[in-house]
Amino acid sequence: MARKPIVAGNWKMNKTSAEAVGLVEAMLPRLREIDTIERMVFPVYTAIPAVSACLTGSGIVVGAQNIFWEEAGAYTAEISPVMVKEFCTHVIIGHSERRQYFGETDETVNKRVKAALAHDIKPIVCVGETLKEREAGTTAEVVRRQIVEGLAGLNPAAAENLIIAYEPVWAIGTGMAATPEDANAVHAGTVRTALASVLGEEAAAAMRILYGGSVKPGNAKAFFEQPDIDGALVGGASLKPDDFIAIAEAAAI
Ligand code: PEP
Repeated sequence: MARKPIVAGNWKMNKTSAEAVGLVEAMLPRLREIDTIERMVFPVYTAIPAVSACLTGSGIVVGAQNIFWEEAGAYTAEISPVMVKEFCTHVIIGHSERRQYFGETDETVNKRVKAALAHDIKPIVCVGETLKEREAGTTAEVVRRQIVEGLAGLNPAAAENLIIAYEPVWAIGTGMAATPEDANAVHAGTVRTALASVLGEEAAAAMRILYGGSVKPGNAKAFFEQPDIDGALVGGASLKPDDFIAIAEAAAI
């Protein structure tokens, strides 16, 4: 079954609005030509309107790095799905940095996923084990729990609007990527199996599962050659136009 590859750039807490426009302008001429894959960028909230304006008609989509689950109200500093929806088609939910530094849990991931889907925003739900969990041999258990609890209560129809990113925490921003074979084994053996248990076999088979964790131009192709790796969520390399374009080109082959 053909699953269209996705290359998504998580810019994290980097770039002012003006700098973000500069970054997108540097990528745009070449990135817009790589149109056999889905291309996405996730700037900080303040840069989203300007980046979105630059990308109009390019086929490259803009997403947010998080959302809250309520539509409006007394929730200082939060951003609602309604606000994100003005500019964005996608949202990252449950990134390990949110789990590690800001108290994100499987339960709050679940609330955000449901809110995003209710507003027609497509979530990229991040899962992945820490180094400690990996060394304790609990990778499968942890990733399975994150999927089963993070996606609890969704029906199979939600699957077509849902993307998963498997990001081993020890590989994020460290330069220590998982091997393509190890990552593929988690995608096929744990992530897709857990998705099937929540959403059914057919839905799980059609879903895109991205790998994230130190993806660079030099290793991207080896990841994308794996049968159950359907693209990448890219952090550091997404801030370098040549690197991000090279990764997108590797996914498009
Ligand atoms: C990420 O933050 O989602 C990520 C994968 O970062 P990096 O590519 O820098 O490891």
